[in-house]
Amino acid sequence: MTTTATGPGRPRLRAIGAPALAGLRAALMGEVIAPGDGGYEEHRRVWNGSIDRRPAVIARCAGVDDVRAALRFGREHGLPIAVRGGGHSFPGLSTADDALLVDLRPMCGVRVDPDARVAGAQAGVLLGELDAATQQHGLAVPAGIVSHTGLAGLTLGGGIGWIMRRYGLTVDSLLSTDVVTADGEFVRASEDENPELFWGLRGGGGNFGIVTDFRFRLHPLGPLVMAGATFWPMSEAGRVLRFYRDWVAGCPDDLMTLVVQRLAPPLPVVPPDLVGRPVIAVVGCYAGDIDAGERVFEPMRTFGTPVLDVFAPKPFVTHQTMFDPSFRHGCWYYVRSCDVAELGDDVIDVVAEHGRRISSPLSSIALWQMGGAVARVGEHETAFNGRGAGFTFNINGNTATADGFDEQRQWAREYWSALSPFHTGVYVNFLMEEGDARVRQAYGDARYDRLRALKREYDPANVFRLNQNIRPD
Ligand SMILES: Cc1cc2nc3c(=O)[nH]c(=O)nc-3n(C[C@H](O)[C@H](O)[C@H](O)COP(=O)(O)OP(=O)(O)OC[C@H]3O[C@@H](n4cnc5c(N)ncnc54)[C@H](O)[C@@H]3O)c2cc1C
Repeated sequence: MTTTATGPGRPRLRAIGAPALAGLRAALMGEVIAPGDGGYEEHRRVWNGSIDRRPAVIARCAGVDDVRAALRFGREHGLPIAVRGGGHSFPGLSTADDALLVDLRPMCGVRVDPDARVAGAQAGVLLGELDAATQQHGLAVPAGIVSHTGLAGLTLGGGIGWIMRRYGLTVDSLLSTDVVTADGEFVRASEDENPELFWGLRGGGGNFGIVTDFRFRLHPLGPLVMAGATFWPMSEAGRVLRFYRDWVAGCPDDLMTLVVQRLAPPLPVVPPDLVGRPVIAVVGCYAGDIDAGERVFEPMRTFGTPVLDVFAPKPFVTHQTMFDPSFRHGCWYYVRSCDVAELGDDVIDVVAEHGRRISSPLSSIALWQMGGAVARVGEHETAFNGRGAGFTFNINGNTATADGFDEQRQWAREYWSALSPFHTGVYVNFLMEEGDARVRQAYGDARYDRLRALKREYDPANVFRLNQNIRPD
C-alpha cells in the first residue's frame, strides 16, 4: 500500500507502507532503501548537483532477479520506474520524485576474455572500471572520456570517445545485451536474437527495457598512447581553429581530438600564472603507434605560441581520467549541444566570440572531432543518428553550487543559439529535458518512427519513460 508523506518544504511525496517494503526487502538480495533510512541521502543523489529528487524507494539490485523483482514491485504499486546506471544523465533522468529507483550500480562485474577479444560488463559498470580490466590485456572498448561516467547510459545512446574514429562508437562494438522487458521477461538481443530490439538498443536509450549485461568486442590499444593537450590564449582562438581545421582534415583515423575552451584550471600541470586565464586547447589521443602519434601531433603542437603543452606517451587509463576533475560529482551542470557539418569561418567566428565570454571556472566547451570509423558504419545499421556529423559541440554552463548557475546557463544558451544556423543534429546523450520535438529531431523522422514501432512492441504502456522518451502513442 502507498500513502503520501510530507518532506520539509516539499510537496507531499508518496511513501511505501512498511509491510510492502518488508516484502521487497525479502525478495531482493540487494539493499532496499527508503526515505529516512541510512544511506538514502547518499543514494538518491545523482552526478548533477542541480537535480534534487526523492524517489519513494531505491532498490540497489545485486543481479537480474533483483531487477525483475524491483520492476514488478514498482509496477504493482503504480510507481514511476527510474533506472540508474552511472547516474550521469545531464538532466538527471535516472531519478525522479516518488519513483521506484532501480539502482544498477552494485552490478559492476567485468569479465575479459583476451583470447576471444570479448568483454562482458554488468550494467552498473563505470567507464574507468571497464578500462582498468581491459587495459590489463592491452585491449579496449571504445567509450567516453570521463572515467566516472556510467557504461549503460552511454552505450544505450551510442557512445563517443577517444578511440571512436579508429574503432567506431561504443555500440559498434556491442555484441549482445541481456534485457529485462517491461513485463519482466528476460531476453537477449544480438544480431541473431531479437535483431530489431538489438538495433534499437544501439542508440535508442533506455526505452525498451532494463539492460542488465553487455558483451563487447575488444580492440588492441596501448596500453601506452600518445595523448595530451596544447593550450593557447583565447585571443588566438580564430587562428588556432583555422589551422586546426586544415590539420585534422589530413590526419589519419587513429587521431581523435577535442577543442576545449575554458578558464585554465588549477591543476598541478598548469603554471600558477596561467590559472584562471581564458584558453583554447586542442586535446588529443592517438590510438596507434606512439612515434607515429608524435609525428601527427607535431604541426598542431608547434603552431603559433602555445602557453602550455602536456602531450606525452602515457597509459590510456591515465588519459581517460584527464577530464575527471573538471566534472566532479555534485556541481551544478547544464549543457547545450549540437552537431555541425564543418568548421566554416562563420562557425569559427561564433566560437571565438562566445569563448571569450566564459566566466565560470567550471564552464567550458568541448568540440568533438567526429568521422573516421563512426562514419563508415551505415546510417541505418543502428539507431544512432549523426554518423555524418563533422563535429559535435558540448557547451557546458556549470557552477560549483546554485550561485551563478542562471548566468552560466544563459551563456550556454546564447552560444548554442549563435550556432543555430549551422546545427545539423544533436547526440541524444547530450540533450537536457528539451521536449518531445527535440527527441524526434535527435533521431530524425524515419529512425524515430522505427523506434516508436519497437517501443509499441516492447513497452506499449511506456513503463520506461524516464529517459529521452520515444512515445509509443
Ligand atoms: C561528465 C560526463 C561526461 C560524459 N562523457 C561522454 C562521452 O565521453 N561520450 C558519450 O557518448 N557520452 C558522454 N556523456 C553523456 C553520457 O553518455 C550520458 O550522460 C549517459 O546517459 C550516462 O550514462 P549513465 O549510465 O551514467 O547515466 P544514468 O543517469 O544512470 O542513465 C541515463 C539514462 O539511461 C537510462 N539507463 C541507464 N542504465 C540503463 C540500463 N541498464 N538499462 C536501461 N536504461 C538505462 C536511464 O534510465 C536514463 O534515462 C557524458 C556525461 C557526463 C555527465
